[in-house]
Amino acid sequence: MHPIELIYVATGIILCAAVLAFAVSSYFEKKTKAFMVALIFTAAISAVWLAYYHIFSFSMIMLSIPPAFVITFAFLFFAPDGRISAIEIDNSGERVDERDVMFAREEYEPGDSRYDAYYSAKPEYKEIDDAIRELPRFLEPGGKYYDPIRSPYIDSIFHSVRYLTTRVDGEISPERKAIEPAEITETLKHAIMKMGADDVGIAPLRQEYVYSHVGRGPQKWGSEIFNNHKYAIMFALEMDYEHVESAPDLTITEESASKYLQGALISVEIARHIRNLGYSARAHIAGSNYQIMLPPVAYDAGLGEPGRLGYLISPRFGPRIRLGAVTTDLSLTTDKPKNFGVQDFCEKCLKCAVNCPSGAIPYKEKVSVRGVKKWQLNIEKCISYWRILGTDCGLCMKVCPYSHPPTLFHNIVRKGIGRSAFARGISIQADDLFYGRKARF
Ligand code: SF4
Ligand code: SF4
Repeated sequence: MHPIELIYVATGIILCAAVLAFAVSSYFEKKTKAFMVALIFTAAISAVWLAYYHIFSFSMIMLSIPPAFVITFAFLFFAPDGRISAIEIDNSGERVDERDVMFAREEYEPGDSRYDAYYSAKPEYKEIDDAIRELPRFLEPGGKYYDPIRSPYIDSIFHSVRYLTTRVDGEISPERKAIEPAEITETLKHAIMKMGADDVGIAPLRQEYVYSHVGRGPQKWGSEIFNNHKYAIMFALEMDYEHVESAPDLTITEESASKYLQGALISVEIARHIRNLGYSARAHIAGSNYQIMLPPVAYDAGLGEPGRLGYLISPRFGPRIRLGAVTTDLSLTTDKPKNFGVQDFCEKCLKCAVNCPSGAIPYKEKVSVRGVKKWQLNIEKCISYWRILGTDCGLCMKVCPYSHPPTLFHNIVRKGIGRSAFARGISIQADDLFYGRKARF
């Protein structure tokens, strides 16, 4: 056989095997449409490859064209083109008041002193917040997916998280141990992963990401927050792929609650361990006891990039993560932010916006928020929808192309979209073709 013929045959076999492997992997992911489309592609490529060989086997020039096309395609898909946009950050230094956060505002009830104090200072939020209060409460009767057994069970998981909010801080051992930063950083990262986290990073803590005043949790409402810790230990917990696929029903909320509880346990234990070494440390957990804004600090720690849907997008798990944090003055070695193409991908993809039933995710350009260019979620619309459902929805997380499980095939695609604009353009089209533009629920 002529070497060109050999290359032609080998390329055809590799191509068909790759598409068939994708069909098999889609079958195990229970993605019926992707499975069927990939099978059709396998059959079509085999037929075209054989027919072309039959017609042009007399000409080595003609036989060299299809392999050259495939090789060029692979090169364009994986070759770094240096066209990756970073997030534009020009921090104003302004801090966010936790009392303004939607989850805090939801808790103010008429007759409660916080309600009167807050809405006389911020009357612009009163009408929309009162309208939200008219809707069924989260996990309580009235929500579309309310279940008399499962909803209270999930609420009890959140109850355990709330209990841990009283365990975030404590006594610092008077015997301060001399510790080498690189060594303790590795030890803490190892411990966090051992306790069940799926990624971990360290960031210098910037004061603009520390809330200015307490809005929720056991500390006095409205008191000023002082957290001068120099470092934030950030970690991510992967949310189970199949549970996220169940969105918007209760299963995704159970998964969120479980990961919040696991994150709370990890951060409380790590903070306690650091205090036992003689250094100040505080856990920041849901429910709420955050003194810091987790997504931007997690970005600084290299755990992901913020996407259009408002969540941090992890390089391996996409938005299917929950975050945890410990801040400390123990010296640590820091990580760097990672930019892997999310800003460019989200610019064109828009799949979360198309699928968001409440219209909370913007189609428009980014806006500048305290000096950071970002897609601004309409949180009031999102939370209203959560209350209508009685779950935390998660449809945007489910449809995001970055949410595919970290299998060999999806990881290969992730490599490409983190390097080349060509790969990002093709992958957006391919995601719609194999998985559909609109989710069914
Ligand atoms: S669905 Fe698309 S636009 Fe939305 S966050 Fe994911 S990648 Fe970005
Ligand atoms: S959770 Fe649901 S309502 Fe909220 S932004 Fe995502 S898709 Fe929209």
